[in-house]
Amino acid sequence: MKQFTGFNKDKILFFHGRTPEFRQLPLRVQWALHRTLKNEKITCLNGEYIINSFFPPLGSGAYREMVKSTIAVYQKKPYPYSAYCAVTNRCGYHCWHCSKTKRAGQELDTLTWQTILGRLQEAGVSLIGLTGGEPLYREDLEDILRVIRKDRAASILFTSGEGLTRERLTSLVAAGLDYVAVSLDHYEPLPHNQMRGHPDAFSTALQAIEACLSAGVYTAVQVMARRELLAKDIMARFVSFVAGLGVPEIRIVEPMPSGELFSGRDDVLLDDRMRLILKKWHVTANQKSSGPKVAAFAYIEDGRQYGCGAGIQHLYIDAFGHLCPCDFTPLSFGHIPSEGFDVSYGRLRAAFARPSRHCFLLSQKESIRDYYKGQLPLSYPDALQICHACPSGPVPDFYRSLGWT
Ligand code: SF4
Repeated sequence: MKQFTGFNKDKILFFHGRTPEFRQLPLRVQWALHRTLKNEKITCLNGEYIINSFFPPLGSGAYREMVKSTIAVYQKKPYPYSAYCAVTNRCGYHCWHCSKTKRAGQELDTLTWQTILGRLQEAGVSLIGLTGGEPLYREDLEDILRVIRKDRAASILFTSGEGLTRERLTSLVAAGLDYVAVSLDHYEPLPHNQMRGHPDAFSTALQAIEACLSAGVYTAVQVMARRELLAKDIMARFVSFVAGLGVPEIRIVEPMPSGELFSGRDDVLLDDRMRLILKKWHVTANQKSSGPKVAAFAYIEDGRQYGCGAGIQHLYIDAFGHLCPCDFTPLSFGHIPSEGFDVSYGRLRAAFARPSRHCFLLSQKESIRDYYKGQLPLSYPDALQICHACPSGPVPDFYRSLGWT
């Protein structure tokens, strides 16, 4: 595995990222898009070049599909390029920040998920995340994965590591899995085990990471940015620990007012000063040729980058078939098994037609709480009212570079 920064990174982007579709864009737009990647670091693994786990491998069929979605943004007809699917709510852990609680219903069967993944690819989605709960609880995960066509979409598995034995990993890779993101919240066992609510969570995560790395699978560690992590020495120790494991990427997510944190836990949410620390980690780590790259949501979803992807570039389907704008925003735009994919997708697209520089959920959390009647996600009529009352503002820089005003 090799990591590339600076001029070498630019060369790779020039030779592997400028697909025929990309070259259809005006030169000034190509240059602006290139500049949006100025703070990224590229990994070469098994002959593939990977910006980070938010992008399919450069030059792949899935990457070309993603470029088409960027051209659609340029044409003012944006649609989601990434979709995360919670294939189950079952899980053996009890994480303090779990965003999946307060949801209930009937888990979808294999055929329904296969049909949904097929429809997502037809709609242009080029990055499909399989999440949960713990997705490895599904014995049919390989059957679900197999419908993801390599020439259309890349796949990423989000896991605590529970159940990710070498045998299971081999079977998932044979079914087409591209990336794995393993949750790891600390460099010491006890705090991680406490935060995950399981005495073996740390050793399980490390075994899973080891299995992924030895199988040559592109692996990210996903860490929840609780406030304590942001202390300089704690974060530095965490990055150095992950570097020692040989993992190429750290994804940094932040607590969101959803699930366990839906109400009454605003004291754990980050403020702008804290997000600035994360953005600096993203930029600084990705300028160094050694060590893992950092992919911080605080940087990626900032208005100076892509802004909030909810419903416009990203969507989420929960374990019971509700189509939502993102993993954390508990608003349903339709129950796919009973209302159909097209109806639900059409409602979502209509409600999220204009991009935003700010996190939709954080800006609307009080309205969402006002509508809460004991279960999430909120129904479509409630979701629609919340969206209608939401003011539109300036667009993120990514969209500006594609001609939006
Ligand atoms: S609503 Fe917030 S958490 Fe969801 S995609 Fe937008 S920025 Fe991310």
